[in-house]
Amino acid sequence: QARKRFGQNFLHDPGVIEKIVRSINPKPDETIVEIGPGLGALTEEILAVNPRLQVVELDRDLIPVLRTKFFNYPEFEIHEADALKFDFASLVQNGKPLRIIGNLPYNISTPLIFHLLEQAGVVKDMHFMLQKEVVQRLAAVAGDNHYGRLGIMAQYFCKVQPLFEVGPGAFRPAPKVDSAIVRLVPHETLPYPAKDLGTLQAVVRTAFNARRKTLRKALAGMVSVEQLQSLGINDGLRPENLSLAEFVQIADLVFDSKPAEQSGQEVSDD
Ligand code: SAM
Repeated sequence: QARKRFGQNFLHDPGVIEKIVRSINPKPDETIVEIGPGLGALTEEILAVNPRLQVVELDRDLIPVLRTKFFNYPEFEIHEADALKFDFASLVQNGKPLRIIGNLPYNISTPLIFHLLEQAGVVKDMHFMLQKEVVQRLAAVAGDNHYGRLGIMAQYFCKVQPLFEVGPGAFRPAPKVDSAIVRLVPHETLPYPAKDLGTLQAVVRTAFNARRKTLRKALAGMVSVEQLQSLGINDGLRPENLSLAEFVQIADLVFDSKPAEQSGQEVSDD
């Protein structure tokens, strides 16, 4: 019985499973990590090539099912854990970057992707099944309907490649939404490195909290109209019209104009 609270929709269409595995193209000597193996539909196909596969599964009732099903793979490793809090970097062996895959639980996919982007430095690539709309958001560019914080931060760290769509009939139970497979490949060198990641995140978050407003209003308190103009950015545009490169320019300017932090120990017990 699939559990709704864990976002469980199990893949059962062999053609779709095969197509996903072909896109991943697993190799025996790679460190592959699957998030949310469920009943092991993808797991089984990956294990056949890479018997050292590791999985992260939160539903403890599924753990014995997986152990029994894959008892003949002694190197197969199950981490009973919440992927949202999981330290993926701890799985790196011999400095080899990770390949992360999964038919993700749709109810937590956005925070999970943000969590994984933070660890992009130890990742070779990621292949995920997601709600189609989330893939559209990941791949969106300035001016698109789906453009926003998720796409900007994903593209800051990764090349985003939507691969193919999957209909509800490939799952049991069938989800109410269409799905799609996406590949995320962390950039070797960031195309638009920000001076301070936290400032970029703050600027993007602030801007899209007011996505229908003009930049002048949406970013009031962070940058002045004069500052925007000094970058050649029209303050009458909306956040959804700005490219990643422009967000980085704004963030760098905000960072540079912050008062230098006070040095020395804080002595404030009074
Ligand atoms: N991979 C399987 C398949 O394709 O048939 C199952 C996919 S199902 C959409 C999502 C899986 O993620 C479920 O097995 C669910 O229990 C697991 N899951 C849900 N929340 C999780 C979390 N926070 N951390 C790890 N796994 C989670």
